[in-house]
Amino acid sequence: MGKSLENPPETGNKPAAAPLLAWYDRHARVLPWRARKGERADPYAVWLSEIMLQQTTVATVGPYFTRFLARWPTVAALAAAPVEEVMKEWAGLGYYSRARNLHACARVVAAEHGGKFPENVEDLSKLPGIGPYTAAAIAAIAFGRPATVVDGNVERVVARLFALRNPLPQVKPEIRKKAATLTPLKRAGDFAQAMMDLGATICTPKSPACNRCPLENLCDARAEGIAALLPARAPKKERPVRRGACFWLTRGDEVWLRRRPEKGLLGGMMEVPGSPWDSREAEGAKPGLEHAPLEADWKRVPGKVEHTFTHFHLELDVFTATTRKKSVPGGEWVPLDRLAGEALPTVMRKVAAHAMPDAGPLFAKR
Ligand code: SF4
Repeated sequence: MGKSLENPPETGNKPAAAPLLAWYDRHARVLPWRARKGERADPYAVWLSEIMLQQTTVATVGPYFTRFLARWPTVAALAAAPVEEVMKEWAGLGYYSRARNLHACARVVAAEHGGKFPENVEDLSKLPGIGPYTAAAIAAIAFGRPATVVDGNVERVVARLFALRNPLPQVKPEIRKKAATLTPLKRAGDFAQAMMDLGATICTPKSPACNRCPLENLCDARAEGIAALLPARAPKKERPVRRGACFWLTRGDEVWLRRRPEKGLLGGMMEVPGSPWDSREAEGAKPGLEHAPLEADWKRVPGKVEHTFTHFHLELDVFTATTRKKSVPGGEWVPLDRLAGEALPTVMRKVAAHAMPDAGPLFAKR
């Protein structure tokens, strides 16, 4: 593109609300958790969707949201559910502490707030699992409060509107300040959703469709021809690789699983037992059989299971064996045809599929 990011832009307030809301009235995305025109937003649905959407795409969240709402239509119903059932429904959605906090939050809202979510950012922020972003989103979308909501889509739009050249993540406070200057007092919820929709459909990461954008005339990055270069990003650190082994032990049509500790990564979820995940080199490393749940004729399945977490990439060797022993301490036998309903995180679903390549789609329900 040949444009430089070195010169700081001039900035100022921009009358973005009116053209953006007019655009939103015509082009708002239809989403399962979103109130239609003229309807009141359901705070429970807004909260549930916002927790699910953290770190997760709209397309992935859709079926989970629909299942949760069908099974637990109110915050009181969710609060009354056993946490294990909530974890099972959440399985595959990732970042599992969210599910635990979701349940804890439902209990607080049911027990201490009479089943009604507080309406302002300050009180919402005191609830489990609700950080500044989510509190602002609920206050704006569910209750029409003039809170400024900044997710990844909004970050991109604001960085471009004001041609903010500093890279993410350092530029975030600057983006928040600028975003706050845009938020209108009226229709704050629609404005927040309009910004998200604009980022998701028009002001997209690689090729923003500026000629269809309602903010084209206000946009500094568009005027300077640097829209697609923003927001700039600090170079990513390479993710370290961790390796481990896990053990697929079957007895007839059951497999032996155990529950992970409540605290830490994938806390409280079920897993195929295995070694710790560490950074040992693949070549020359011990296969990890010392971590097998019992002595057996373990066979390594060719290939590896790979999964990327936020802070590391994982490679797992999978070993399989069968046993007749009923009693194996530290876990439980689970029928193979009930696997899909277990609280198995995605990495463990991959392990199951790797261990039983001929079993067909094990987790079609998700
Ligand atoms: S004009 Fe282009 S870069 Fe600016 S907000 Fe609209 S789509 Fe994004």
